[in-house]
Amino acid sequence: MVKSKYNQPLSGNEMPRFAGNASMFRLPIAESATGVDVGIIGVPLDIGTSNRNGTRYGPRQIRAESVLVRPYNMATRAAPFDSFQVADLGDVPLNPYNLAASIDIIEAHYRAVLEHPVTPVSIGGDHTIALPILRAVASKHGPVALVHVDAHADVNDTMFGESITHGTIFRRAIEEQLVIPEMMYQIGLRATGYAAEDFDWARDQGVTVVQAEACWYQSMAPLMAQIRDKIGPDQPVYLSFDIDGLDPSVAPGTGTPEPGGLTGPQGLEIIRGCYGLNVIGCDLVEVSPPYDTTGNTALLAANLIFEMLCILPKCERRS
Ligand code: MN
Ligand code: MN
Repeated sequence: MVKSKYNQPLSGNEMPRFAGNASMFRLPIAESATGVDVGIIGVPLDIGTSNRNGTRYGPRQIRAESVLVRPYNMATRAAPFDSFQVADLGDVPLNPYNLAASIDIIEAHYRAVLEHPVTPVSIGGDHTIALPILRAVASKHGPVALVHVDAHADVNDTMFGESITHGTIFRRAIEEQLVIPEMMYQIGLRATGYAAEDFDWARDQGVTVVQAEACWYQSMAPLMAQIRDKIGPDQPVYLSFDIDGLDPSVAPGTGTPEPGGLTGPQGLEIIRGCYGLNVIGCDLVEVSPPYDTTGNTALLAANLIFEMLCILPKCERRS
């Protein structure tokens, strides 16, 4: 076999899948982002959650379950490890006693990473991590378009008087002009609210809110085609995928599960539908291993993160 110029996942035929170092996709762990095209970063935060915690264990568990992910996408024929230098860049060293300090640590960490020409793909952690990541991303790329999958809008003004929590981040992102509301799509929102108007604040800012009921029994492909048309191929786009956007029957291991969510195939369609967009960063958040008794939520998350690699610009597809 010809040796690739890029990092390759350690094959399940060289070292058993259940053995070896538990890096993401069995890739090498890189000390710095130098020479890395796509950097996978763990952000083990859970002190921004409002109900069940445990997302601090997300990065480690998703890495552990990622051992089953193979290098080629059998549906799209995408070959990310033949296309990019992908490495596991390890975890952000948070302060588990201090959310505000952790937010600053995350932003500084991503600003340093983004001094390199690298696309960050982040493993949460609760959804709070998206705000400092977006601050760093927007400082590099300008305000971004946003594809946001979630059961929740995450646009509360405050929670317990706090302005930064996992339920307030996208209000802050709009206020801070990190995102372009007219190019922001919230998909999968549902269930119960503090008020009947909860989802309207984002709509009033120009955001397109696609509630879960509008997705039921339907392919997500037409919606994604509309989104690609609207955003176009050049505008920098960030993809933020809260695992609770999917139904608890497929993703029970999370802190604020809501009934009536998207199916696994719909989740795949949303990510695959981002191919053709200028995606400059992604995250997969809110996996809580203590509530993931089978490990399947983390396994699904690992596969969704693989799908994210497969839709990055210039990811080759085998004929
Ligand atoms: Mn969320
Ligand atoms: Mn959520």
